[in-house]
Amino acid sequence: MYFYTLSILKSSSPVFAYHSSVLYEAGEILLAPLRNHLKQAVVLEKIEKPTFKTVAVDSETGMCYSKEQMHIAQFISEYYFSSFSEAISLFLPFNKAPHPSPLTPHLPALPNLTPVQQKAYDAILKKEKALLFGVTGSGKTEIFISLIAKMLEEGKSSIFLMPEISLTPQMEKRLKVYFGDTVAMWHSKLTKKKKESILEGISEGSIRIVAGARSALFVPLSNLGLIIVDEEHDDSYKAMTRPRYHARDVALLMGSKLKAKVLLASATPSMTSYHKVEVVKMGEPYIKTRKKYHFISGNSINEPILKALYKNFLEENQSLLFLPTRGNFKYLYCESCGKTHLCPYCSVGMALHRSRKHLKCHYCNYTQAIQESCSYCNHTPLKSERVGTAEAIELIQERIEKIQIEQFDRDSITTAKKLKEALKRFESGESQLLLGTQMLSKGHDYAGITLSVIMGLDYVLGLADYRARERAISLLFQIAGRSGRSKEADVFVQTADPAFFKAYLADYELFIKEELSFLEISEYPPFASLARILIAHKDEKKASKVTLDTMIKLKAFKEIEIVGHGKAPVEKIANKFRFQILLRSKKRVPLLKALHTVDCREIEIDMDPVEFS
Ligand SMILES: [Zn+2]
Ligand SMILES: [Zn+2]
Repeated sequence: MYFYTLSILKSSSPVFAYHSSVLYEAGEILLAPLRNHLKQAVVLEKIEKPTFKTVAVDSETGMCYSKEQMHIAQFISEYYFSSFSEAISLFLPFNKAPHPSPLTPHLPALPNLTPVQQKAYDAILKKEKALLFGVTGSGKTEIFISLIAKMLEEGKSSIFLMPEISLTPQMEKRLKVYFGDTVAMWHSKLTKKKKESILEGISEGSIRIVAGARSALFVPLSNLGLIIVDEEHDDSYKAMTRPRYHARDVALLMGSKLKAKVLLASATPSMTSYHKVEVVKMGEPYIKTRKKYHFISGNSINEPILKALYKNFLEENQSLLFLPTRGNFKYLYCESCGKTHLCPYCSVGMALHRSRKHLKCHYCNYTQAIQESCSYCNHTPLKSERVGTAEAIELIQERIEKIQIEQFDRDSITTAKKLKEALKRFESGESQLLLGTQMLSKGHDYAGITLSVIMGLDYVLGLADYRARERAISLLFQIAGRSGRSKEADVFVQTADPAFFKAYLADYELFIKEELSFLEISEYPPFASLARILIAHKDEKKASKVTLDTMIKLKAFKEIEIVGHGKAPVEKIANKFRFQILLRSKKRVPLLKALHTVDCREIEIDMDPVEFS
């Protein structure tokens, strides 16, 4: 008889001991009885006969996880504080049955690379991992396609990650042209049947390229040669439920474990990637494209905006208007210089708090009285109201009666079908204005647009987030880059701080360099590690007690700093009171060590958080 420890899949249950007369290897997936149900469970290891009575394994499933998958899952569970089961359940297992060796697919006629693209391609080929830094429209896709084709030629498979699959039907079309049925799109909204047929294709070897959102990283492609993470700066690569992993970081780990090349790509790379991964730069700075920037003041749909929209409408051109999503908080900002009132200790915006009696920093919990005047320019009074999507539409329609507007945000674009329809109307010219939120900055290119209006960047700049500056300037680049590919385009930027944006307009890399030195001085990532602990409970006293108990435990660790603790910015969700603790450490290991001493059942740990509400 053999004895094993098994981890029940898709559960937070602990590990159980079982026995069987069959010899299994670690990674094999079995059916095991648990409380009168048969559950899928993965073999962790063979053990000595335990002193207590064990239950017999029921049968095998014919599926198994590879050694590498088991290793990476182990890392995810330790680094992102989940159970092993939650981590391994991210992965799709391999079929154990021997499958026919894959046919060499018919190789496509490849795109012709320009000398600039060729140079970048050659540089990437020589590196194990690289960050392709190229402005929107500089031809990154042709490089991706050439790399994927090269892998196919060598008998290797590829994974192509995009931040949001629903927004990238364009990429699917382009990949299909070259790779036909060897490429499959993978995302959470696929039907069970479709998923099964893709998995079968992968297992047979007919599917060698999988493109999709985060979850595509975990498909069982054998002989993986390449992982591409496009738009690597995008925060949707970070999972918001357990395991709270960052797909870009897991891709880098996977690459080194599987000896696969990892290519990150962006027109506005994240500070972390730029700092840690070798950069391959491509393309010309924006200023050389035919975009004309106009900086205007104010913070509402005002005369210059209406005039520009009207003129463009009369000339039968299409426009885009961006408004940032309104967060949960209001911040005090100065209409005169555009600055938001910041926490003196954390350099992040201080939120106007409940009942509006005070200002509060959501990092360190520092509070102070509501300020009357701007601490930068003395302007009085400070404001907190901002315009929303619905209000903007109303104002524009009042003035330009006949304009057809596509509202492009999460309230109106709720399904892939609605997205397709909206895009179709816009592409056909049926509608003339695309008005929306962050959604506009992702994926699609809108070649017909000749006017972009970008509002609310001052608001983004003042968010309670250490990456507020990065977010604001990256949004400007992303949105401006989506428009006017083929024609000359005007870009209106509404800000009271034009000097900040103007300084970097021609050179995003200059911004990265200056921002990195700011982050270094103020000790934020990538020069320190952050972790956020979330405590949620129906009983407010209980939540508060768990917070304090956890704090006391953590205080014993000298290498970590407790930046702040108290009620979370969003104090209540689904009837649960929320508390948080924000931690920082120069080094990662002491932080992980300290966090592994606290009781994970009552709290949620978010390593490298990107969201602070
Ligand atoms: Zn001011
Ligand atoms: Zn603070």
